[in-house]
Amino acid sequence: LGQKFGDKKNPLLLSVRSGARESMPGMMDTILNLGLNDETVEALAKSSGNPRFAWDSYRRFIQMYGDVVMGVQKLPTEDEEPFEILIEQVKKKLLGNAHADDTDLSAENLQVLVAEFKKLVKSRTGKAFPNDPWDQLRGSVGAVFSSWMNDRAIVYRRKYNIPVEWGTAVNVQSMVFMMNAQGEDVVAGVRTPDPVADLKKVLPSAHKELLRICKVLEKHFRDVQDFEFTIEEEKVFMLQTRNGKRTGLAAVRIACEMVEEKLISWKDAITRIPADDLDQLLAPVFDQAAVKKVKTIAKGLPAGPGAATGKVYFNADRAEAAKAKGEEVLLVRLETSPEDLRGMIAANGILTARGGVSSHAALVARQMGKICVCGAAGVQINYAKRTMKIGKTNFKEGDFLSIDGTSGEIYAGEVKTAPSEVVQGLLENKASAKRSRTYKNFTQIMAWCAKASKMQVRTNADTPGQVQNAIAFGATGVGLCRTEHMFFEGDRIDAVREMILADNEGDRRKAVKKLLPYQRKDFEGIFKALNGLPGTIRLLDPPLHEFLPHDKKQISDLAKKLNVQPAEIKKRVDELHEFNPMLGHRGCRLAISYPEVAEMQVRAIFEAAANMQKKNIKVNPEIMVPLVGFKKELELQAEIVHRVAKEVSKDKGVKLKYLVGTMIEVPRGALTADEVAEVAEFFSFGTNDLTQMTMGMSRDDSGSFLPNYEEQEIVSNNPFAVIDQTGVGQLMEIAVTKGRSTRKNIKLGICGEHGGEPSSVKFCHSLGLNYVSCSPFRVPVARLAAAQAALA
Ligand code: PEP
Ligand code: MG
Repeated sequence: LGQKFGDKKNPLLLSVRSGARESMPGMMDTILNLGLNDETVEALAKSSGNPRFAWDSYRRFIQMYGDVVMGVQKLPTEDEEPFEILIEQVKKKLLGNAHADDTDLSAENLQVLVAEFKKLVKSRTGKAFPNDPWDQLRGSVGAVFSSWMNDRAIVYRRKYNIPVEWGTAVNVQSMVFMMNAQGEDVVAGVRTPDPVADLKKVLPSAHKELLRICKVLEKHFRDVQDFEFTIEEEKVFMLQTRNGKRTGLAAVRIACEMVEEKLISWKDAITRIPADDLDQLLAPVFDQAAVKKVKTIAKGLPAGPGAATGKVYFNADRAEAAKAKGEEVLLVRLETSPEDLRGMIAANGILTARGGVSSHAALVARQMGKICVCGAAGVQINYAKRTMKIGKTNFKEGDFLSIDGTSGEIYAGEVKTAPSEVVQGLLENKASAKRSRTYKNFTQIMAWCAKASKMQVRTNADTPGQVQNAIAFGATGVGLCRTEHMFFEGDRIDAVREMILADNEGDRRKAVKKLLPYQRKDFEGIFKALNGLPGTIRLLDPPLHEFLPHDKKQISDLAKKLNVQPAEIKKRVDELHEFNPMLGHRGCRLAISYPEVAEMQVRAIFEAAANMQKKNIKVNPEIMVPLVGFKKELELQAEIVHRVAKEVSKDKGVKLKYLVGTMIEVPRGALTADEVAEVAEFFSFGTNDLTQMTMGMSRDDSGSFLPNYEEQEIVSNNPFAVIDQTGVGQLMEIAVTKGRSTRKNIKLGICGEHGGEPSSVKFCHSLGLNYVSCSPFRVPVARLAAAQAALA
C-alpha cells in the first residue's frame, strides 16, 4: 500500500481481529483504525482530503481500544456505554440535540469528542491513552486473544459445542476505508445498510465486479457466502468471507436447491444441515385466522422466520430471569450487541428498532433459529422507564407482543400460533401444506436420510396418538413405552395407589386386577398404531414417591374411596417413605417383591397382542425389564413372561412371537452384560439412569449445581442432555462388547433422552447400535443425525 506504520505523512492503519476456526460472529473483540494518534490523524486528514473522516476514525479507535483493551466498561449506575453517553453529551452541547445523527458532527466537533474520550479513559483506568502505534498493536493483539475467554464467547461455545481448547488466531490486516460508516456499524446494527442492488446506480462498475466475485466464491466454496467488502474509489476490496449463517428453514432450502443446481451431491446436502436446526421446520407459524383479527402496529425487517409471541423485556438479564420463571419472553432492544446473547437464548423472539438483516442480532438469531424482526423504526424504547411506544400503542415491560419474522410484522398482544407446514402436512394431512416448498424440501431431505442411514429411529411414546405422530415423522417403531405413564389417566391412579399401598398379597391382587382391563386397552391402541412395527413395552418402573398421595387432601380423598381411615393410609405412606427413591424400591425391584404386578402387565400385553392378531393386525412386542443389575433379576422376570405367554397363547388359541430384554441403566448391569445377555434378547440403554448412577448425580436435583459446573467448564455439556462419552460412554461400550460376546446378534438400542440429541446419536452409531429412540417431535432430528453419522 506504500504506507508505513506510525508514519507521520502516510500512515498505515491496521485492524486486529479474531480468527477462530469456527466462525463466531461478534463474540470476540476487534480493534479497527489502529495506528491513529495525535500526529497520524492529521496525516490521514490530509491524505484523504477529509478531516471529518479522519477524526471520526480516531474517535472510533479510542472508543474500541478504550473498551476492549483498557477495560472502560459500563458502570452499574449507567444505562448505556460510557462512550455513547459522552457522544450524546457532546451532541447536546455542540448541536443542541442529544439524538442528532453521528453524521451531523463536524471535524471540529469530533476533535472535542476525542479529547473527551481520552479524559474518560484516563479517569476510568488511571492510564493515558497510548500514543505509540506499537504499544497500541501489542495491547490489541493481547486483548483479542483474551477475548476467547469473555462471557459471550464462552456462552456461544457452549451453545455450539466448540471446544475451549481450540483457541483463536489473531489477524492483523491493513485498513481500507469507506466513507461515513465502518463495517462495525453494519454488524453492530447502528446503521441500516442500503441493498446491494442500489450500488448499480451509484457505482455500476463496482457493482458488476461484486457480482462476479459472488459467483466465484459460491462456486469455489459450494456454499452460501457471507462476506465483507469495502469499495475505495470504485475498487472493490474483499475483507473476509465465510459460510453464511442460516436458519434451519434456509439450510434445508439451500441444500435442496444446490443439489438441483448440481453444485453439491445429495450426500453433501445431508451433511450441510445442522441436525438440531431441523427442529425449526416444525416450529409454529401464526394462525392465519387469528392474524386477520389483529392490526399490524409496525413493520420491521424480516430477519429470522417464524412466529413468536411473549412478554416483552428490554434487557437481556431480565429476559433471562423471566424465562427461568417459566414466562414466554420476547427480547426488545434498540439494537442488540453480542452482550445480549443470554437474553436472546432465553427469548422466543427478538425485536430491534435499528439494524439491518446483516446485523449480528439478526444473524445470531437466525443461527439459533430464533424469530427475529429488526430495524423496526416505529419502535421507540425508553430503557430507563422500561416502556415502549409502537405507533400509537404504549407498552410496559411484561406486556404481550407478537412478531412475525417471516414478514416483519409486529402485532400488539398475544396472537395464536398454528403448526408449521411440515406438521400440517405430515400430521394433519393437509393438501395445501403439502404443496408448500418447505414441506417438499423437508420430505426430500428425509428421503435422502433414509437412503444413507444404518441406524433406525424409534420413538418414546406412551399413547397411540404419540405413536402415530412419530411414525408420520418417520419412526420405525416404539423404543420405549413407559407403562407407568398410562397410570395417570382418569381415575386409574386410585387403583395404582391401592396396589402400592396394599400391605398383603390378597389386597394387592385385588387392586392389580382392576388395572388389567385398562392396560389391555392401552396396549391394543399402541399395537394398532404400530401396525406391525416393533414396540418395546417396559414393565412398571415407578419410583414410589411419584405415585404416593402426599398432602392431607390427597390422603383423605383416597381414604374415602378405599373406605379406610386416613390414618391408616398415612401410616402406610410413612412406611414406604424412602430417602433416595431414585435408588430405592423401583424398577424390577418392585416386581421382584410383588411378581403379581409384572404378571398383570405381561398378561395385558399378550392378551392385547392376541386380540389384535385375531383382527389380522400384525404385532411385534418386545418386553423390557427395567433397572436390571443382576442376571438373576432378569431371569425371574423372564420366567413370568414366558409362563404367561404360554397361558395366553393356549387360552386364546394364537401363536405369540415376542422378545424379552432389558434396559441397561444400572452400572452393574453394564459391567456384567455378558451374564445378562444369557437371558436378554435385547439391550436398551437407559442413559438417564445410567448417567445418574455413573455420576452419582440425581436426575431430579442436579439442576441446582449443574449450571455452575457448565459455567466453570467442569462438564462441557449437561450430561443429562448430551452423553458423557468418556464416562457413561465407556460403560455403554463395555456393555456392547460384553453383550455381543455372549449373544452375537443381540439387538441394541437407546431410549434415554440422549436418543434425540445429535452428538449422542452419532456416538450410538459409532457403537453400532441398531436404533435410537426419542420423543416424536425429535424423530426428524435423530434421523438426520443418524444419516450424517453413517456418511461421516
Ligand atoms: C432411562 O433411565 O434412561 C430411561 C429411559 O428410563 P426412565 O427415564 O423412565 O427412568
Ligand atoms: Mg430409567
